[in-house]
Amino acid sequence: MTLMEWQQKFRTVEDCQTFLVQQRWPEGFVCPACGHREAWVIHRQDRHGIDLYECQECRRQTSVTAGTVFHHSKISLPMWFWAIYLVAIDKRGVAALTLARELGIAYHTAWLLHHKIQQAMAERNGRYKLGGMIELDDAYFGGVSHGPGKRGRGTDQDPTLVGVSLDEHGHPQYGFLEKVPDLTQETVTERLQDHVEPQSTWRTDGAEVYAKAAKILKATCEVTLSTDPQAAEVFHWVNVFISNAKAFLDGTYHGRGRTRRNLYFAEFVYRFNRRFFGPRLPEQLLRACVAAHPHPYGT
Ligand SMILES: [Zn+2]
Repeated sequence: MTLMEWQQKFRTVEDCQTFLVQQRWPEGFVCPACGHREAWVIHRQDRHGIDLYECQECRRQTSVTAGTVFHHSKISLPMWFWAIYLVAIDKRGVAALTLARELGIAYHTAWLLHHKIQQAMAERNGRYKLGGMIELDDAYFGGVSHGPGKRGRGTDQDPTLVGVSLDEHGHPQYGFLEKVPDLTQETVTERLQDHVEPQSTWRTDGAEVYAKAAKILKATCEVTLSTDPQAAEVFHWVNVFISNAKAFLDGTYHGRGRTRRNLYFAEFVYRFNRRFFGPRLPEQLLRACVAAHPHPYGT
């Protein structure tokens, strides 16, 4: 969708609500309490103007934003939709400062919006696993220094698990990145179980931890030692993926700690896995936000 189309489609609160109703109740209203299909609609006159639906059976009141990231937000729906559009179209990842400037909102509010959108991306990423041939590796991303004397054990020294799946022509398909507390057998096996399909084939550098995880997860391991002259070719795409992720973080990353870092990874992975979506991406991201669960932070 172009900027003009977006602006026309989601100009008012009513426009945005219409879209949300179509997404959440495609067959029409369904009472979350009793499943009844008829409701009275109460148009509210407060500053957000979000309609209340009162079930004609059990009288439970709900709104189309209940249970979504948009619920109880201080930000109006059109503003939310704009934020999603801006995040979707900027390939480098829109920093909160840019979002604040473009939307004319406070930095803190923009930061929270960005955070929630990243959360929706992470949830969407969590629905998919990599399959087939996968280049697997671990990497260290470095990052913000916490001052002298803090080396080795700081959160920025935590390893990151990385994988890229290849199609039958050896071209990259999908990827994942996750910062983990350590590379123990337990952690690696558990995290890989979430990211890759069983029965997949892994290209690894011979680390024992992957061989064991492969056995547990019924995957096949193809080992190429890093000293092997073929290694650069075998691990080409996972290396490209890592260096692109580093560039992305350098441009946008200001947070600290594993959770925050993993949200930036989620944003990078979300974009990478949808790099051929083109103009469809803003609406896809909007749908991901509609489907996402509310987050404890308030906006
Ligand atoms: Zn009801």
